[in-house]
Amino acid sequence: MNSPYQICSRCVLDTTVADIRFDEKGECHYCHIHDALGKEFPLTFDGQKKFLAIINEIKQKGHNKKYDIIVGVSGGRDSTYALLKIVELGLRPLAVHLDNGWNSEIAVTNIKNATNKLGVDLLTHVLDWEEFKDLQLSFLKASVPDAEIPTDVAIHGILHKIAAQEHISYVVFAHSFRTEGVAPLSWTYMDGEYIKSVQKRFGRRKLKTFPNMTALDVFYYRFIKNIRVVPLLAYLKYDQKEVTERLSKELGWNYYGGHHHESYYTHFFQSYYLPKKFNIDKRKVEYSALIRSGQMTRQKALDEIQNHPYPYDEELVRYAIKKLGLTKKEFDDIMAVSNKSFRDYSTYYPFIKALKPLLAVVQKLNFFPKHLYLKFLG
Ligand SMILES: [Zn+2]
Repeated sequence: MNSPYQICSRCVLDTTVADIRFDEKGECHYCHIHDALGKEFPLTFDGQKKFLAIINEIKQKGHNKKYDIIVGVSGGRDSTYALLKIVELGLRPLAVHLDNGWNSEIAVTNIKNATNKLGVDLLTHVLDWEEFKDLQLSFLKASVPDAEIPTDVAIHGILHKIAAQEHISYVVFAHSFRTEGVAPLSWTYMDGEYIKSVQKRFGRRKLKTFPNMTALDVFYYRFIKNIRVVPLLAYLKYDQKEVTERLSKELGWNYYGGHHHESYYTHFFQSYYLPKKFNIDKRKVEYSALIRSGQMTRQKALDEIQNHPYPYDEELVRYAIKKLGLTKKEFDDIMAVSNKSFRDYSTYYPFIKALKPLLAVVQKLNFFPKHLYLKFLG
């Protein structure tokens, strides 16, 4: 049943990614996705011309309003860089932070420093902790590797909700395929129906205030409120070292030691939960992106991954279990449940698959994000 171990000849993704496919040269389809995105968002004169046209359109649309665009800020590198670039481009952003209860102190300081130094208004939305904790627990009980999507969905949901309330037409998507890569489908799938079905099955509470993004919400924000998502970082050169130095120097930004470790939950989730339960090492996604964009050698990535297991902190694991309101035994039981995937729950994925011919057309009109189209259907 188990296929033999194989690793991509170009990046470091391997058969621990259940959906991985290789071409005749041994290159994986996530490398192909990277190349397709590189063609869609080229760092050429023409690519920049297209980008500046979008920025001008945003300025024109916002000229009678207080803000041109919303930028979600987590205190992490990508969103802080996105905020800096937006200000440099002469746009007037509203920074929005989603507080899910797991902020590290470094994250809070980074957000404060960046918004103060850039003179940007900040709005913080605090999730209802008891409700959100219950949803996080439901996803742990569901035994799926996508157990961190409640935060990601809430971020999309709240940014759109505030954009609609404040009559802002654009929302920044602060993700760079050049440094972050595209999370494999079998590791991270998300949609509003998935949230609903998992909570219905395992939750103790009804979701009353959680800013979910159901298909109806997506339709409402896109077509009724006409809110557009701008994949800002995809248009920009992103050299991780250079960006880190700039942010530290200009905005007093501090690094927290790992990808998205600005959140205690993400740190616990990526360093302990995913490797121990699913044999998933998310560094492979980030390192693969850096290899493809020439910012890391494949040899260095292999050495890191093969010789240095994702370091975790016992203290942090104890903190996370306690904060979730679990006993050690209850947590061990969760870890022992057989692993499942999003395909075991109700999601929109079957519909998305069925709508492939339609989506092939609309994604060309920028109605469906290119990276998701390639990941779901490519
Ligand atoms: Zn690859």
